[in-house]
Amino acid sequence: MSFPLPADLIRQDVENLPTYNAGLAVERFKDIYGIDCLAKLDSNESPLGPSPRAILAMQDAAKGVGRYPDAASLALRQQVAKATDTHADCIIFGNGSEDLIGALFRAVIRQNDKVVTICPSFGLHEFGALTFGATVTKVPFNDDWSFPVKGLCDALENKPRVLIFSSPSNPAGPVISKDEFNQVLAAADPSTLICFDEAYVEFIEADKQFDAMAILQDSGCPWIVLRTFSKAYGLAGARIGYGIASNPKMIDALMKTRNPFGVNALAASAAVEALGDHAHLAKVVKQATNERERVAAALTAKGFVCAPTQANFVFFDTGAPADGLAEKLRTKGVLIKAWFEAPYKHWARVTMGSPEENDIFLSALS
Ligand SMILES: *Cc1c(COP(=O)(O)O)cnc(C)c1O
Repeated sequence: MSFPLPADLIRQDVENLPTYNAGLAVERFKDIYGIDCLAKLDSNESPLGPSPRAILAMQDAAKGVGRYPDAASLALRQQVAKATDTHADCIIFGNGSEDLIGALFRAVIRQNDKVVTICPSFGLHEFGALTFGATVTKVPFNDDWSFPVKGLCDALENKPRVLIFSSPSNPAGPVISKDEFNQVLAAADPSTLICFDEAYVEFIEADKQFDAMAILQDSGCPWIVLRTFSKAYGLAGARIGYGIASNPKMIDALMKTRNPFGVNALAASAAVEALGDHAHLAKVVKQATNERERVAAALTAKGFVCAPTQANFVFFDTGAPADGLAEKLRTKGVLIKAWFEAPYKHWARVTMGSPEENDIFLSALS
């Protein structure tokens, strides 16, 4: 039974937020479309799933779920510190890195603060900030899909509280170069927090990789790098991601604004094993990088314009409001993500699934 809510209960700025455009879970797909989902290519998940070692670790950890997990995730922290050559007291885990984006904004954003990001953008970079009353400036990519260095530098002149963007970019796919990153950071005031979201860092080709943390460290700005186990490590359903910050004080603050037990025991134990299984990660990355080239070439051959990609997905212009195509594909058992952000409403993002799933997508397009 549903009683009316008092008219002023929900904050107006919260009412104004759009509903998060989440992918459709497979079991929900079947309920709605009455057919099996043949190719789930809407959420950038790994078609190879997690390392088998991570699954075994979760099964083992399940025996201990009567107890609260270690809120500090110490074992995992130490392992990540070693793997990333950083200090354990500069690392924090969250219920996915999305959880940390929220914790970050909660810790630093005051009403009417300025936040700068790029466009198209990962939804939470914008809406997460809006939730706390920030004004968000979105700098569009250049027409050739290079990062908008000049636009970002101009926006940084206003000394925003936070600059946040992902590279490789979700949903577009391009990666910022070392030189471009240096130029952007040179324009940032030391009062601006730089949040560099590396959710897809594992998929970057060797010649485009660089040590972002070294450059951030030289910038004189406070910074945090975000990473996740949801994409290349195949643990999206387990919910775990992490941040590496310039200063342990930032971690102390985020420990207060995040949910204290947001990282559950199963996810933490899975992450330890996932991180240790280099062979599995290499297999995932190889497949995704091969497939993104193959699928982008096939899309181009069909006349679609694709953005260059260094991630596990391809962003392409469908030539009309993208939900039309996405809906047609859903009736054929294929899920992709139509983009709803102006001026990219004709664009859609397709995740690189297994070669078989990608073939199903490509033939469903014809
Ligand atoms: C997927 C993604 C994340 C993180 O997702 P979690 O599952 O919450 O770890 C963060 N940033 C970007 C840009 C992403 O695409």
